[in-house]
Amino acid sequence: MRCLLFACLFLGSFPLFALDRFQVEGYTLPNGLQLLLKPGTERGHVAIRLVIGVGLDDFSCEDKELPHLLEHLLFSGIDATGEGGLEERMQALGGEWNAFTSNADTTFVIEAPAKNQRKVLDLLLALLSQTRIDDNAIKAAKQVVEREDGGHYTRLQRWLDRQDLGHTASNQLAVELGLKCPERAEVDHLTREQLEKVRKLWYAPNNMTLIVVGDLERLLPAYLERAWGELEAVDPSDHLPLPEIQTRAAHERTLSSGFVGGGAKLHWLVPEPVMEDQHDETFDLLKDYLDWALYRQMRLVHSLSYGPSAERELFGGVGFMSLNADLERDDVPQAEQVLEELKAQLLKDGLDADTFNRLKQAAIARQAWAVQGNSALADYYWSALGEYEGGRFTNPARELQGVTLEEANKALRELLLQPGYLRIEKPLMGDDQLIWTIVGVFGLLLLGLLGWRLHRRTPPPV
Ligand SMILES: [Zn+2]
Repeated sequence: MRCLLFACLFLGSFPLFALDRFQVEGYTLPNGLQLLLKPGTERGHVAIRLVIGVGLDDFSCEDKELPHLLEHLLFSGIDATGEGGLEERMQALGGEWNAFTSNADTTFVIEAPAKNQRKVLDLLLALLSQTRIDDNAIKAAKQVVEREDGGHYTRLQRWLDRQDLGHTASNQLAVELGLKCPERAEVDHLTREQLEKVRKLWYAPNNMTLIVVGDLERLLPAYLERAWGELEAVDPSDHLPLPEIQTRAAHERTLSSGFVGGGAKLHWLVPEPVMEDQHDETFDLLKDYLDWALYRQMRLVHSLSYGPSAERELFGGVGFMSLNADLERDDVPQAEQVLEELKAQLLKDGLDADTFNRLKQAAIARQAWAVQGNSALADYYWSALGEYEGGRFTNPARELQGVTLEEANKALRELLLQPGYLRIEKPLMGDDQLIWTIVGVFGLLLLGLLGWRLHRRTPPPV
């Protein structure tokens, strides 16, 4: 009750509070539901994010689509009017909703007029607690999920995946290292019992965070405590441990992408060494630096690639940095050479202090306009939930400021001293090769025909 009183008081002091985006009022209801409420600067609108702590990573390869299928099923209706009736109710409130299942969570995303915020939250609550899952709904949801995953998983596609032909370079490497499932997860075999179990074990208030940003009603905290406080907590389930690198992968491979074409892609991928402090900020800055270094070398100096880039990606429990370049097929060897020279030069000389500082200041400056408006702010809190503590999110600008050139150089050395994995994606044949193959086949046909004619003309032995 004390927290409720405090929340009411705080909602009365909006204007000052709204300015500091890292300061957010958060408290937990007795049933374990975590609430984050933030007055936004835009009037008349609220952005709602309900984050449920269950995602694809919580299931084995075979059952990976369970949380995604359940997410879809929850939109199948709360009464006899079904899916359509549910949607009509949301339309009548002037709101829009959607949901997303990621590796780490399942999130319901709502934009709504401020005047209907309680009614919209009521509808979301009804969706969570009143949706009946029946076999027809399961069948319909399975079809939708299958379509979203790229249509029916054909024998050919499965075969290609098994032959390591169906994935992009980084996904393919993750499969080789045991960080990612080799085949697409299917939905056909998933049962109603399994779905009910996921709902019971994970869709509980003590596994949820409700974020509301915008033109908040004064009575919102009291409403939330009353209505959402009714949900019943469950014994928490443990998350599956994230996969770590289990097997070795070839240092260098060429992957076929399509049949004919003149383009190619070069990727050098390397696991990020784990830094004790400010790991993410350090590697974010290194990414910016490597991005720029690649652009200078591959595009400006050597004109090999139009849009080279450095990327960070997470597979299971392992973060990867990758250096990538789109190329002409014939330029691959030269691009490999340029990449090697760039890595050698960075290892020898380290980061250029002026460039590093310029890029660091740019990254800090970007924070000033990176998150605009209620919806972006709600999305930001959703993405940074792990960094919320004591009423505050960590300020990325301050964290970035704390990364020194020395630390960045240390991370760079540890990164580049690894051999990493070189992957070249290109179609089976170049355009020229195709033309020569056609010419060759045509020539052989002609020779065959000529030989046959000569054979016919030879006078029969007397
Ligand atoms: Zn979906």
